[in-house]
Amino acid sequence: MQQIIITLDGYSSCGKSTLARQLANELNYVFIDSGAMYRAITLYFLRQHVNWNNVREVNKALGEVTLDFQYNDHTGQSDMFLNDENVEALIRDMLVSEHVSEVSAIKEVREFGVAQQQKMGEKKGIVMDGRDIGTTVFPNAELKIFVTADPTIRVERRFKELFRKNPNITIEEVKNNLEMRDYIDSNREFSPLRKAADAIDLDNSNMTREEQLAIALRWTEEKMAEKKA
Ligand code: C5P
Repeated sequence: MQQIIITLDGYSSCGKSTLARQLANELNYVFIDSGAMYRAITLYFLRQHVNWNNVREVNKALGEVTLDFQYNDHTGQSDMFLNDENVEALIRDMLVSEHVSEVSAIKEVREFGVAQQQKMGEKKGIVMDGRDIGTTVFPNAELKIFVTADPTIRVERRFKELFRKNPNITIEEVKNNLEMRDYIDSNREFSPLRKAADAIDLDNSNMTREEQLAIALRWTEEKMAEKKA
């Protein structure tokens, strides 16, 4: 069967990655969490004390970064590798979350990320989630979903996830971080978070994982049928 490209964009913590992973599993497609790539770059910049307001330093640092997704047998999911180190857990830290939007707004960082993401989609059969996937990375994708969820629900979901790893985290911290990221991501100059004109809205505030998957699968079938016709 002919393979397609599916993009999922939206604000922080609205369940994009969960749905993208489910869809990819069902379809036997590759799942790419583009946010993990920007998080890994941010981790590298923080560790190397890169002054990201200096273009020369940014370019030099990007030249030292190799990103790679590797399948983890234990979790059944792909982990983010930065220069051959598994950084899957580290990139979810609050420290990275606090700086990732600033770093990913940099023109050179975007060009670096987008070029790699486009290469991953060359053979199609991919589900990628992020902020600019349907607009900049794959503007010709067959199915584009714009995921939304009520802001209070998004904060609760993210808080529960982070609290498991860090019981000192407060709901205020999580809320402030989500608001700050959404603001920077939506207002940056280069590939800001936008709903593509041809994207379909999916508000999952009151949906179970199974329900949202069923809807996305139905849309996928429709797009595949359109392509065949
Ligand atoms: O998806 P996640 O919340 O892990 O993404 C972390 C951050 O990476 C976002 O807040 C955004 O600043 C950046 N990002 C981006 N473009 C993407 C995916 C993520 O700028 N395609």
